[in-house]
Amino acid sequence: MQNIEGFKKMMSSPQKITIIAHHTPDADSLGSSLALASYLKKKNHQVQVLSPSNYPVFLDWMTNSDDVIIYWSKTQNLCKRLITEADVVFCVDFSSYGRLQGLEPMVKEASGKIVVIDHHLKPDIKADFQLWDVNAAATAELIYDFIQLMGDEDLIDVRMGEYIYAGLVTDTSSFKHPSTTKKSHLITAQLMDLGVETNRIQRLIYDNNTESKLRFLGYALREKLMVLREFRTAYFTISIEEQERFNHQPGDTEGLVNYALSIAGILFAVIIIEKPDIVKLSFRSVGKFAANEFARKHFNGGGHQNAAGGVSNLPMEEVQEKLLSLLPEYRNELMQQEIW
Ligand code: 5GP
Ligand code: MN
Repeated sequence: MQNIEGFKKMMSSPQKITIIAHHTPDADSLGSSLALASYLKKKNHQVQVLSPSNYPVFLDWMTNSDDVIIYWSKTQNLCKRLITEADVVFCVDFSSYGRLQGLEPMVKEASGKIVVIDHHLKPDIKADFQLWDVNAAATAELIYDFIQLMGDEDLIDVRMGEYIYAGLVTDTSSFKHPSTTKKSHLITAQLMDLGVETNRIQRLIYDNNTESKLRFLGYALREKLMVLREFRTAYFTISIEEQERFNHQPGDTEGLVNYALSIAGILFAVIIIEKPDIVKLSFRSVGKFAANEFARKHFNGGGHQNAAGGVSNLPMEEVQEKLLSLLPEYRNELMQQEIW
């Protein structure tokens, strides 16, 4: 972080602080926000966590009822007050205005200082202070760094450790992604020393499925997975009707795209999900194939080289056709890449 002394000075007296997670928060955004909130409360600040939208049920274990205020019509005024009247607003696990959804105009109006803690590419939020590192495996790693930087490592307790571990384990897909570093493991070792039961947290995250989510997974794998060997690509399309049929809950399609990528010889995976007002796409790739470039160029999106997303206003069938018509352009690149 640049100007750490200026930052420390600002934080040396109790501040009114609002922490914001990103739209459809994942375990990294929610866990990082909650760990940061616990830390700042210990430093006698007045703290509230906000989220632009609800988080998946498998993260319910992370929160008590008042820990996070979700933005919707009934909380709109409260959110606005909390953001515009805060002394400091933290943006956690995102650095682009687009991920704020309905909270975006409020953050743009905020009179307090803006602090970004994030590891995503292409930041566009105007921050007064930022701890931003695209090489961090998770924002949770940066939260750990941040507390260390403030000289307060001793204040990390087991609950905060669980939040940080949850962010790390999910953003690295259980320490599998190439973003995983020695540091990710060292932080985990520190958290284990502290008493974090890693197996319990992994079970809370990964063995906490609803029956309908698993039935949906079975259906999607059997009926909806399309494999295009000639492009080393596999994809799913999921309609609103299918989501309704399987009593779809937020987060239920999360991770589905990774099954497509787990097929031997597949280097590019896509999921196309129909939403009431838009079609959402998630892209995953292995190695050099730049999923973020693909998303940016064709689907008004972006992200990381191997994990990206985008959107389309076309009907879902036409989005699928568009994807299929684009693939021949990338055939050489995909076919020439080494698989292992
Ligand atoms: P997911 O597929 O899990 O929703 O998103 C994977 C990554 O892609 C996210 O971490 C984020 O960086 C990026 N991403 C997802 N959706 C969008 C989008 O609509 N626009 C942009 N710019 N990036 C996205
Ligand atoms: Mn993250």
